[in-house]
Amino acid sequence: MPEKRYLFTPGPTPVPPQVLAALAEPVLHHRGSDFRPLYERCLAQLQEVHRTRADVLMFTASGTAAMESVAANLAEGSRAVVVSAGSFGERWEAILAVHGAEVDALRYEWGETPRAEDLAARLAERGGTDLVFLTQSETSTGVVADVQALSAAAKSAGALVAVDAVSSLGAVPLEMDVWGLDAVASGSQKALMTPPGLAFCAVSEQALAAAKPSRSFYLDWKRTQKAQAQLDAPFTPATSLVVALNVALTMLLDEGLEAVFDRHVRLGRACRAGAKAMGLELFSPDEDRSAVVTAIRAPSGIDSSDVISSLRKRFGMTMANGQGHLKGKIFRIGHIGWFDVFDITTALAAVEIVLADLGADIERGAAVSAALDAFESTRVA
Ligand SMILES: *Cc1c(COP(=O)(O)O)cnc(C)c1O
Repeated sequence: MPEKRYLFTPGPTPVPPQVLAALAEPVLHHRGSDFRPLYERCLAQLQEVHRTRADVLMFTASGTAAMESVAANLAEGSRAVVVSAGSFGERWEAILAVHGAEVDALRYEWGETPRAEDLAARLAERGGTDLVFLTQSETSTGVVADVQALSAAAKSAGALVAVDAVSSLGAVPLEMDVWGLDAVASGSQKALMTPPGLAFCAVSEQALAAAKPSRSFYLDWKRTQKAQAQLDAPFTPATSLVVALNVALTMLLDEGLEAVFDRHVRLGRACRAGAKAMGLELFSPDEDRSAVVTAIRAPSGIDSSDVISSLRKRFGMTMANGQGHLKGKIFRIGHIGWFDVFDITTALAAVEIVLADLGADIERGAAVSAALDAFESTRVA
């Protein structure tokens, strides 16, 4: 495999050099006077990114632990509805099954976009629901759901709303306070441009008040919330990752959330335009909301696993295969975080070469200029 590596996956994502450099600084002690102000800044930056005044709890873990913290603190004995349209919706179902909730899944085919009307109807049919679980960006399909509308349906049925925003936070708009979200789970290694290892769960006052005795010691919201309020983490956080995260979030907030979202919309447009120009069929929706990951069908007769392994062997590039029953059928190009349009054109140019070698009937050379045009000519209003 070539020495140079490219990460074109929806997590982990490429990390900017200044963030990597921060990881090489001497390790800080988590109760030291140098770490505390940094920790405080990071927690405040995380609130800005979530557009919330609520506490954002930080755990040293991957994003799934933030999801599990919701279940460990709220699920026991509760009646829950999970909106499930892919691998990560199914993950909510599986986590809740471990933590003693009575779960009703509103299931869609993988690739479908959940509708608020369906959720409202399901909630109306039921005799009361305590919790509703949503996935903002279903990374397995490329669908970005309308969390604002889904959340409104859940709220009007009196439920608390938990959102998996692991791949979407910092890539597409999320308004925790305005949309009335109660728990938002995310991780460091997606649009937040930091290596894997930190998980975040923003929790509303209502969610904290509704918390039961936690079924998890480490993921206990109240223990973490009390300790964070004193800038005194309950357990040793990955301090070096916090130092790096501070650099990454400063970059993100300096660019400005609106500008960041605009860039992601245009990256999504570029990726879709390029894929279509070489004659490929999209699996993810061809719409601006789909700004996180573009899922593309392998041409007939070609296994997407071969596309992915050739890209890796020949060019040191990593793209994502389909998950579950889509394995071998689609491949996914992530474009969140530290991405610009030349990452998209590089990815597409390599896909063209590999597909042509595998015998696909594709149009060579068309993708790059279509992607550049789509990125440049279609600034978001
Ligand atoms: C990546 C991802 C996760 C899980 O993240 P880990 O960090 O691997 O635990 C959860 N949900 C979505 C939508 C994701 O994209």
